Amino acid sequence: MPLIEPWRTAYGADSAVHSILVRLSSSGTHAWGEACPLFAPTYSPEYAASVYETCRQFLLPRIVGREVETADGLLEHVAIFKGNPFAKAAVETAWWMLESKHKGVPLWRLVGGTQPEVSCGEDFGIQDSIDQLLCRIERAIERGYPRVKLKVMRGWDIEVLQAVRGAFPKLTMHIDCNGGYDLRSDWTTLAAFDRFDLAMIEQPLASDDLLEHAELQQRLATPICLDESIKSPKDFAAALKLGSCRAINVKPGRVGGLRNAIRIHDMAGDAGMVAWVGSMLESGVGVAICAALASMPHFTYPADLFPASKFHLHDIVRSPLEIGTDCRVNLSRLDLDIADVVYERLKAIAVANAIIAVR
Ligand code: MG
Repeated sequence: MPLIEPWRTAYGADSAVHSILVRLSSSGTHAWGEACPLFAPTYSPEYAASVYETCRQFLLPRIVGREVETADGLLEHVAIFKGNPFAKAAVETAWWMLESKHKGVPLWRLVGGTQPEVSCGEDFGIQDSIDQLLCRIERAIERGYPRVKLKVMRGWDIEVLQAVRGAFPKLTMHIDCNGGYDLRSDWTTLAAFDRFDLAMIEQPLASDDLLEHAELQQRLATPICLDESIKSPKDFAAALKLGSCRAINVKPGRVGGLRNAIRIHDMAGDAGMVAWVGSMLESGVGVAICAALASMPHFTYPADLFPASKFHLHDIVRSPLEIGTDCRVNLSRLDLDIADVVYERLKAIAVANAIIAVR
């Protein structure tokens, strides 16, 4: 899915998003799920082609033709396969969408959502210049976005924060480092982040640095928010025990689907930890899934929900979700077909497809 402009983070620049869509059908109804890793294994060890093959070769042949009554049941069927949360989420989110249609209950209610109006934040990748970033932030503030998130990396960090904080002293903002720093060699920079009154510092260290994150959290006043590090409820339990974070970004793809995302939401609620829903620049299918999740009561920090019109040149769903003038997504007005894909648009950009039928 080509992007309007390249999305630049500590991982490099992406000019297109590579996503895996799964269409499940049962009893005459069909529904779509999505997992959107990146093209290359940079954000996680999984990537678009690996997720596609894992779904095609291993996960779907174990699901197709079986009665699957619950999301937990589905996860049990594929539990023999280690890891691969994005691949499991592609299949599992399609199951939830199908369940929603079968029951005639909107997904946001089915997952236990209580807030049909979801507050959305604004995000900025690495920009060409600090001036460009300041202009864009000003527009976001004028539009009324309740918070801003800035991607940072070595060489695009302290100077940027000084300029942004100087221009907007009261702005609620946080930074996302995408694991780009090292506790020892970048300590001076990490310590300096504490000076900018940030709502949180997202994933400062590498995804397997739970111990180092715990040490960093001890030394910083600003809450650390984990993203890449948390690939399952078990990872989150470890992070809670170690004190590796004080906030959590929950993405259904990264944690193996909605069931695990709900579990992490509940754990965060029990721990009194700030939680919010993140994004992988999904198509309208994935955005609808993330929006439903974000309606749960303990997701209190504004979500990363990006309607296709914001990043994508075109969307593939019939009725893409939009952000209102109040910077909220209103789920109560959406119908059950919100994430229905227009085949012609999908065919125009699809690079591979497979059908797994009942034998
Ligand atoms: Mg992140």
